[in-house]
Amino acid sequence: MTTSAELFERACRHIPGGVNSPVRAFKGLHRPPVFIERAQGAYLFDVEGQRYVDYVGSWGPMITGHADPEVLGAVRDKLDHGLSFGTPTAIETSMAELICEIIPSIELVRMVNSGTEATMSAIRLARGFTGRDKIVKFEGNYHGHSDSLLVKAGSGALTHGEPSSPGVPAALAEHTVTLPHNDLDALEACFEEIGDQVACIIVEPVAGNMNCIPPQPGFLEGLRRVCDQHASVLIFDEVMTGFRVALGGAQAHYGVTPDLTCLGKIVGGGMPVGAFGGKREIMSHISPLGPVYQAGTLAGNPLAMAAGIALLTKLREPGFHDALAQRVETLCSGLEARAEAAGVAMITQRAGGMFGVFFTGQSRVDNFAQATACDADAFRRFFSAMLDEGVYLAPSAYEAGFMSSAHTAEDIQATLDAAERAFALMARA
Ligand code: PMP
Repeated sequence: MTTSAELFERACRHIPGGVNSPVRAFKGLHRPPVFIERAQGAYLFDVEGQRYVDYVGSWGPMITGHADPEVLGAVRDKLDHGLSFGTPTAIETSMAELICEIIPSIELVRMVNSGTEATMSAIRLARGFTGRDKIVKFEGNYHGHSDSLLVKAGSGALTHGEPSSPGVPAALAEHTVTLPHNDLDALEACFEEIGDQVACIIVEPVAGNMNCIPPQPGFLEGLRRVCDQHASVLIFDEVMTGFRVALGGAQAHYGVTPDLTCLGKIVGGGMPVGAFGGKREIMSHISPLGPVYQAGTLAGNPLAMAAGIALLTKLREPGFHDALAQRVETLCSGLEARAEAAGVAMITQRAGGMFGVFFTGQSRVDNFAQATACDADAFRRFFSAMLDEGVYLAPSAYEAGFMSSAHTAEDIQATLDAAERAFALMARA
């Protein structure tokens, strides 16, 4: 049998850090990352035959569980027709129609290959549309790895200690203004000073890349108001929250309508897909309708569209998101009760199908400063103990957790039993 440790050693010879995305590395955890061979429903199976209850779900897409038979079937049906044509196809229009129907603020939508491409393109469009250069983002929000957005970013950039990456020219970074998350006073002060130079605000409506931070009441509404006052474009980065926090995303859940929306993860059903779309008036500036250039050799790939459409169609089943939120609720309240019983200071935060676990004595966590003040060492001990128990959590205190409809009551109970033992270990240490 080949072990994860052996595979990791081999991987490190030719892949930087042994991983094709830094978030997969077990930073500071003193063990090699687990190499997965296959997955089914709520479970991952590693190369050593160990089964894990998975709360990462490929970082979001697997909202109905791994290897969903309907998603796989849709891909199989398309497979023999060929992988890519570089021409328009009917299935791209079906996808566009589906997205516009589910998220009514999207009138025109362009498919891309990743969340990074979606946000990068939306930013360029907002700049081209307004003729302004500055963009406003929030500390600890992650919007992919394009240059303008890797300034005080979350996710792997934060986990690996480089929230503002070397390699981003200062002349570009100076156009990215970063403000504290959930802080309307700071936002209003900023717009009073430079509002007429701001092309757009981009925000994770539920921040999921510095753990899980829902918006404070009024925050998203405040963003909408300020953008309207200053003729700036409001971009919701719903790469993570889209189709997860509610079918119509965070904008449906919180009742605030952005001008542009970025999608990724679930929209591709596990294939490499992203999308950006929104108001016709703004989207009409994209090439070939307008002058703002954006393109993709494999964009709208037929297999990827088939996977995404199959998954989105399943999510339209009435009650899907209520049941998912209920599962998250059961898990989170169960974790809190067990932490409290063990005397471990821990809280959870949640929004629909996503959640976060914070090791802190605070009663809530609303921003980057509070998220990074949590006990990172306690998280590492919890993560390792849970992994030993067969529960796979994101290997960073700065990532949200994801549940799927494949998580059964038994899976949740097994997770809570494991957590009880993990908290007992932590309390003894
Ligand atoms: N935006 C958000 C909110 C994300 O969570 C991510 C990825 N986790 C991205 C953008 C980038 O997406 P991708 O990794 O597909 O490029």
